[in-house]
Amino acid sequence: MITEENITHWRSQFPILQTQVNGKPLVYFDNAASSQKPQRVIDSIVHYYTRLNSNVHRGVHTLSQKATDAYEEARTALAGFINAPEKECVIFTKGTTDSINTVASGFSQAFLKAGDEMWISAMEHHSNIVPWQMACERSGAKLRIIPMDDTGTLLTESFLNELGAKTKLIAITHVSNSLGTVNPVKEIIAKAHSLGIPVLVDGAQAAPHMKVDVVDLDCDFYCFSGHKMYAPTGTGVLYGKREWLEKLPPYQGGGDMIETVSFEHTSYNVIPFKFEAGTPNIEGVIAFSEAVKFIQDIGIETIHAREAQLLAYANKKLAEIEGIRFIGTAKEKSAVVSFLLDGSHPYDVGILLDKMGIAVRTGHHCTQPVMDFFKIPGTIRASFAFYNTETEIDLLAQGLEKAKRMLL
Ligand code: PMP
Repeated sequence: MITEENITHWRSQFPILQTQVNGKPLVYFDNAASSQKPQRVIDSIVHYYTRLNSNVHRGVHTLSQKATDAYEEARTALAGFINAPEKECVIFTKGTTDSINTVASGFSQAFLKAGDEMWISAMEHHSNIVPWQMACERSGAKLRIIPMDDTGTLLTESFLNELGAKTKLIAITHVSNSLGTVNPVKEIIAKAHSLGIPVLVDGAQAAPHMKVDVVDLDCDFYCFSGHKMYAPTGTGVLYGKREWLEKLPPYQGGGDMIETVSFEHTSYNVIPFKFEAGTPNIEGVIAFSEAVKFIQDIGIETIHAREAQLLAYANKKLAEIEGIRFIGTAKEKSAVVSFLLDGSHPYDVGILLDKMGIAVRTGHHCTQPVMDFFKIPGTIRASFAFYNTETEIDLLAQGLEKAKRMLL
């Protein structure tokens, strides 16, 4: 439930939110880049190293078994979080980038060839562009782009009509990190599937903020990062349908991903292990599952509703600033506000806000084609988490007025 007491309680669980930056109480509005971590996630890392530390899947000794159990329980927790039908369909990766590269590498080896086409959208993060450019270069397939309009809404109709026998894959973001647009991925997937085309969804900006149900979406692959949802860096998930994961070649070779090895031939382990070569980020994965339990204790619907309140408040409050230009005004939006201040460079505004203890991101946000589309060098981006407050948004608005006075 969203109450004043609960908001105070939620915030109190994040030690860094009680700190000061440049002599001012920290106002953290860079959640789309990485979220802050609650004490229980931090504690779970300490617990791992003080009670469980050992390698997984290998040892007969007690600690190794305990570590393996905790690691595999984390897989069950993550599977539950996205409603994956089986935990074997959850691959632990370093993050969204790693998840997408895993699919792009295998796909270009096994399923893409010259003459084929695949689609991404105009608002993708570089990590859902570059791996596909590399895959197309390797295979000779053509990369096509779903266009958007100047509100940052995808023009899906024309693109859906262009899908056909040549189309081998669609890789699309669920939520744009620089515009905040929430894309109609379920509808796109339904249409793609009616033509037998698989869909990968980049869920980096969706999984922390809204209910994700991979069965309901019916996506073939879903990728997301732990560090954007209160878990440590270096953790992520690649969800895939069993049929796809079984036929996709492994991304990396090494320990754990094999069944048998001889110098003549290697046979691969079953999923998920086929995609988890080498010693994984054990403590990170365990802490990731603690972050998921933390989210579930609050409720992802509550988080979503609270962030919608913050977005509405920020839209209203910032619109009062003369000379502000919003970039990304789609109807369906996540709690991301990207904007420019007339006559000032985003970088200068970011530096001045930082002096006031306010952390925003400035620049292209790893979406250079989006900036090219709007013919701008970058934006100032405030991205919210449920632990932010209206008072902090007021401070941002005051900070922007002050920055304007100093820069103009
Ligand atoms: N996709 C989107 C939409 C993102 O916002 C990000 C992170 N900014 C990524 C992919 C890449 O995530 P990571 O750096 O955690 O691999």
